[in-house]
Amino acid sequence: MPETEIKTETVQSPDAPPTAPPSAAPTRAASMEKVVALCKRRGFVFPGSDIYGGLANTWDYGPLGVELKNNVKQLWWRTFVQRRRDMVGLDAGILMHPRVWEASGHVVNFNDPLVDCRTCKSRFRADHLIEEKLGRHVDGKSPEELTAILAEANLPCPNCGNRTLTDARQFNMMFRTTLGPVEETGTVTYLRPETAQAIFVQFKNIMATSRQKLPFGVAQIGKAFRNEITPGNFIFRLLEFEQMEIEYFVRPEEGAAAFDAWLASMRAWLALIGLREEHCRVREHDPEELSHYSSRTVDIEYRFPGPMGWKELYGLANRTDFDLARHQEYSGEDLTYFDQPTGQRFLPHVIEPTFGVDRTVLTLLLDAYDEEQTVDVNGKADTRVLLRLHPRVAPYKAAVLPLMRKPELTEVARDLFARLEDETGVLVDYDETGNIGKRYRRQDEVGTPFCFTVDYETLEDRAVTVRDRDTTEQHRLALDEVPAFLRGRLA
Ligand code: ATP
Repeated sequence: MPETEIKTETVQSPDAPPTAPPSAAPTRAASMEKVVALCKRRGFVFPGSDIYGGLANTWDYGPLGVELKNNVKQLWWRTFVQRRRDMVGLDAGILMHPRVWEASGHVVNFNDPLVDCRTCKSRFRADHLIEEKLGRHVDGKSPEELTAILAEANLPCPNCGNRTLTDARQFNMMFRTTLGPVEETGTVTYLRPETAQAIFVQFKNIMATSRQKLPFGVAQIGKAFRNEITPGNFIFRLLEFEQMEIEYFVRPEEGAAAFDAWLASMRAWLALIGLREEHCRVREHDPEELSHYSSRTVDIEYRFPGPMGWKELYGLANRTDFDLARHQEYSGEDLTYFDQPTGQRFLPHVIEPTFGVDRTVLTLLLDAYDEEQTVDVNGKADTRVLLRLHPRVAPYKAAVLPLMRKPELTEVARDLFARLEDETGVLVDYDETGNIGKRYRRQDEVGTPFCFTVDYETLEDRAVTVRDRDTTEQHRLALDEVPAFLRGRLA
């Protein structure tokens, strides 16, 4: 079904999309509505401009969301840039010379095909409609080809059911803006629709200053903007989002092997952040689906709960020398590389692994969301909601909780809290309000892996209770060993 119909507040459960294998459907506590509700309730993600009634499809990361998101970005940077000798970073501007987007092909090609319903005026992505209703991937097809497919299938409007869809037509997704104080005389440029292009544009400067030799890569994390026809599904498809992108430059003959190596690295990343293997798969693009610049593309897809099913999480493309060749042509600058061992001069080829930050956050939350049926202290049936986030990405790595708000306990607890801050350098929560059961539940809901509780016994044995989020099991641990315990669990 088209994404316009999938409102995060009212996700229905129609037939599973054809891309989802029926066998891989274990019961799952997570649904988009539950995660959206938890995100608002616990301060992960708020509706944008909330007190003004909101602005459709804009979302703001709250206090815990920003921690989760920063953990993802820092882990990614550490993994793919700082820990590799063959990678360097870049942090370029959002605004670039308008010629950049002519050279890159975005002005002409960065279009989504849309169809309208003449009866109810709903608007859909033609390719998504075909994908959802007919199970065909049609990424690379022209509007004429899409129109022909739609006409042959005689699809009804998914909203009103009338067979009154228009022909498919192209819609450029770049946000335009003008430079200069007077709009009429200003130069039109665009908010970047991807972070990749700045890496090609700065290729010469990076080569001259970083002393890297092929193969090497450049990484960037930053905002990108797309005027999506059908934004939605919470933070899955946004107008403004963040990307973590790598352009990996290789000798032309090294492209295929580098592609495979990057696919393996991307899979390793999924394991590193703790996404469940059965919720991830690799989908190879058909030749006719390939973008104008790509000789091979795979998507890493995630199995979203409910009607969404399998959808793109990340992409990996072999962009050949398309971008450097185009920027060389449009800028007039020589962007070739001189290969000392062979004495040859050529344009490097490029392998591009691209990761969406917001989709990572969303999949982490959906993957981690769980509910357990329990009984409360009064013997009443109760549901424990928890986020089984990997400690590497969890906003708080631990919480320090004095059993009661009594000075003799809070003094020891505050002391432990300060020690953890100093000796582990990670974010730890401190909470002394409310009953201990409620405090545990609160930490479960925000994904805190460990709680350290200071009680009256602590005053005698200099030990705390460690409670595990996933099992709720508790054991005693010497106060002095708590920092090393936490460091060990995060390693
Ligand atoms: P889709 O087919 O879902 O529109 P795409 O193939 O256009 O995605 P890319 O251009 O390959 O996406 O962008 C790289 C990554 O950026 C995607 O894999 C995704 O994680 C993220 N991304 C792309 N568009 C959006 C968006 N509108 N909102 C949030 N993340 C996005």
